[in-house]
Amino acid sequence: MQLRTFTVENPATLTSVAEVPDMGPAEAREAVRCAHHVLDSWASRPPRDRSDILMRAHRMMIEDADSLADLVSQENGKSMSDAHAEIRYAAEFFRWYAEEAVRSEGTFGVASSGRSRSIVTHRPVGVAALVTPWNFPAAMVTRKVAPALAAGCSVVLKPAAETPLTAMAIADLLTRADLPDGVLTTVTTTDPGPVVDTWLGDERVRKLSFTGSTRVGRLLLHAAADRIINCSMELGGNAPVIITEDADLEQAVAGTMIAKFRNGGQACTAANRILVHRTVADDYVALLAARVGDLAVGDPRRGSAIGPMISARERDRLVTQVDTAVAGGARVVRQAPLPDLPGHFVAPTVLTDVAPGSPILNEELFGPVAPVVTWQDDDEVIALANATEHGLAAYVFAGDTLRAMALAERIQAGMVGINRGVVSDPAAPFGGFKQSGLGREGARDGLRAFQETQYLSVDWP
Ligand code: NAD
Repeated sequence: MQLRTFTVENPATLTSVAEVPDMGPAEAREAVRCAHHVLDSWASRPPRDRSDILMRAHRMMIEDADSLADLVSQENGKSMSDAHAEIRYAAEFFRWYAEEAVRSEGTFGVASSGRSRSIVTHRPVGVAALVTPWNFPAAMVTRKVAPALAAGCSVVLKPAAETPLTAMAIADLLTRADLPDGVLTTVTTTDPGPVVDTWLGDERVRKLSFTGSTRVGRLLLHAAADRIINCSMELGGNAPVIITEDADLEQAVAGTMIAKFRNGGQACTAANRILVHRTVADDYVALLAARVGDLAVGDPRRGSAIGPMISARERDRLVTQVDTAVAGGARVVRQAPLPDLPGHFVAPTVLTDVAPGSPILNEELFGPVAPVVTWQDDDEVIALANATEHGLAAYVFAGDTLRAMALAERIQAGMVGINRGVVSDPAAPFGGFKQSGLGREGARDGLRAFQETQYLSVDWP
């Protein structure tokens, strides 16, 4: 039977990039069959073998960086410099977990009675289902695949329908790096519900690692409850950026530009609310507006710094959020010019006088719009920062680093950038408080997410 296909579209030019198979439950089940078939042989391979494959994948990804970055940019629309940065970041997960794969360790303990000894080890959790979003088509894949493979899990992967090509290219690269057949199978689809439901209903699947919206994460947690599946959830964010009265404003603006406009604002860690001390607000806004007004918006493959939104729906949602804020009294201070192109572009925008409680401060923006709010004392800014159901990232810019750290400790967020606008690091635990998720990726935590803890209780004479 001929498999149906769907078109992957370049969101900057609205031209077709490629056709890929549109799979369903039958292919999802077959992928699990393959993963389950090879699970034991993969899990029992010497850790050094698994490590070598991941290390080769890292090297190949760096060697292929230009073509992979081009692919990411074509299907996702991000700027070429963002695409290159993503490939370097994505490749680093292979290297980091190649190193981690051979650092397997446990503990040895003495029972309080003295009558037994405990040996604690970590076992692969089993077949893992990985579901990834479109906004980092490479890094969200390697951040899950690398630790899963290092832990000895076999995996089934479902990338977002908008950006399946990078995931397919990474799977191909792993095959060339000698990953055995069946250890990773990619299922591409425009109808994710039945595919992921098939996995969650299959007793051979023991793990779900999801990155995406809080709405879909909640749905999947409900579905995973039936079989008590081990879940890791990397969900939405609503990051505040706090600028204190003693901050270096040049540094604060440079950091805000990264936190807000990297990836065109389409990042879960993106700055959503800029909270600036009233005494420095005018100077800060003037500097920020100048930078934003200069942003080149357009086709990334023609050198723009800001590409399009991923879809017409996302563009319309963001434009409505801005219009609603303006109708509520917000003021547009500066907008970068829009290109005369067919893609889903939104002008990078600085908004001030945003009314407290305005929806734009509560909803994830996911685009190049920066709402600025002013504050007077620390308690007020902490209350503003924490007034959200999310708790993924936050940023603090302050002249006194200890004060910045003290403020950071009061923010309910899993990651806080201090005088810097980026927090992502393969060697650090990535994840959120509150409705931003469950568990952590990256670092040792990311490996543990694909392991069960087992302890042997040994009778002692
Ligand atoms: P999304 O939730 O719509 O989709 C994420 C993935 O889930 C995609 O693969 C999609 O096909 C799949 N999916 C959608 N509906 C589904 C369903 N009913 N059943 C099963 N699978 C389903 O999110 P998105 O629009 O692709 O990505 C943007 C969101 O992801 C934002 O909220 C962003 O904050 C979040 N995100 C979080 C992190 C993090 O690490 N915390 C990283 C990147 C993105």
